[in-house]
Amino acid sequence: MKTLKLREGKERSLKRHHPWIFESAIAKGSADSGETVRVEAADGSFLGWAAFSPASKIRARVWSFDETQRIDASFFIAAVARSTGARDRFDIKSDGMRLIHGESDGLPGLIVDRYGDTLVAQFTSAGVERWKGVIADALLAATGLTRLYERSDASSRALEGLPEVKGWLRGGDATTPTDLVLHEHEWKLGLSIAEGHKTGFYLDQRDSRKKFADYAQRLGFQRILNCFCYTGGFTVAALAGLRAGGFQGGHVTSIDSSGPALEQAQANVARNGLDARQATFLDADVNASLRKFVDAGRTFDAIVLDPPKFAPTVAHAERASRAYKDINRLALKLLEPGGVLFTYSCSGGISADLFHKIVAGAGSDAGVDGYITERMGGAPDHPMTIAFPEGEYLKGLVIMRR
Ligand code: SAH
Repeated sequence: MKTLKLREGKERSLKRHHPWIFESAIAKGSADSGETVRVEAADGSFLGWAAFSPASKIRARVWSFDETQRIDASFFIAAVARSTGARDRFDIKSDGMRLIHGESDGLPGLIVDRYGDTLVAQFTSAGVERWKGVIADALLAATGLTRLYERSDASSRALEGLPEVKGWLRGGDATTPTDLVLHEHEWKLGLSIAEGHKTGFYLDQRDSRKKFADYAQRLGFQRILNCFCYTGGFTVAALAGLRAGGFQGGHVTSIDSSGPALEQAQANVARNGLDARQATFLDADVNASLRKFVDAGRTFDAIVLDPPKFAPTVAHAERASRAYKDINRLALKLLEPGGVLFTYSCSGGISADLFHKIVAGAGSDAGVDGYITERMGGAPDHPMTIAFPEGEYLKGLVIMRR
């Protein structure tokens, strides 16, 4: 067994069970890509068993802090079963859910989503890459399913020195459909596991889409703006909410810069028996569109702002803060008094506190105040754990204009 010795003082975060070991923390030791190493403090005491990653700044990621734990197939079988078992206890109103959320489930670099009877996995660290076959079999055993598609085409693979890979890993072939329909709340939502973003869908916003539907049902919004709509989840939520509330009319303008996502969004409106005349889709840049709406004097009763990750890490936080502030300022200007803004950041580099400050700055620049009626986070199948605060990436505020 190879050993990784840390520099003096670099054991602190591991003692709190934080799983990352940066290149700069290592005094000596090396191993092959994904190989298990014993991690020791400068004084030689045991810290954890980790997967080595020779090309990555995060040079090793800990599998276990228990010295008696063997890192073998049974370790992965147990870890997968624990994560999938937890989902049975979470409150998830969908047949689409995240089964494994990387570090937060003790499996750094592994993402697994379930869409009905199909699994989609993303392997983004050298450790899970090395154990891919064992993990794939464990996933099928834990779920009783037979089909697993791999979406390891994330750019983060390059940071680990791994090539991009995409295709069926278990149980499918070229003729197996990759266009699926998931059932979230009372809605049918189509997605492509082969061509969609990430593994195909933004499962993490499930609870927020429901919340948006509830607000629409209660308040009967007439003019709705869904920015960064992707495949139209919030659009369907709004129209379904209005229908459930018995509200006639109401119109959703949805904006995204991805043509295929907009086509899927339009199909999703039809799939749910909603009136296509109540939905307009714009293939456009959100920032430019918001400016145009402000100039034209348009206003809305409800706005969703769910942008992509502007700040992947804290290093990008300053530039990202300006970008968040800008779109939030414009959105607040477009809001009618009594109107509601659902605004989000999915940047790991922006804390909940900082996000609140950014939105406060946007409000003051826009000359608009509002009540924060909800604080939102990721759905429970995208968990946060005590030891890994970086697991908190998605945060949202629901603001009702005064
Ligand atoms: N709210 C969505 C998820 C949004 S993900 C849901 O519930 O599913 C972010 C989206 O922003 C992606 O679909 C991406 O195509 C889009 N996007 C990124 N930059 C954009 C821009 N400048 N203008 C418009 N859309 C953009």
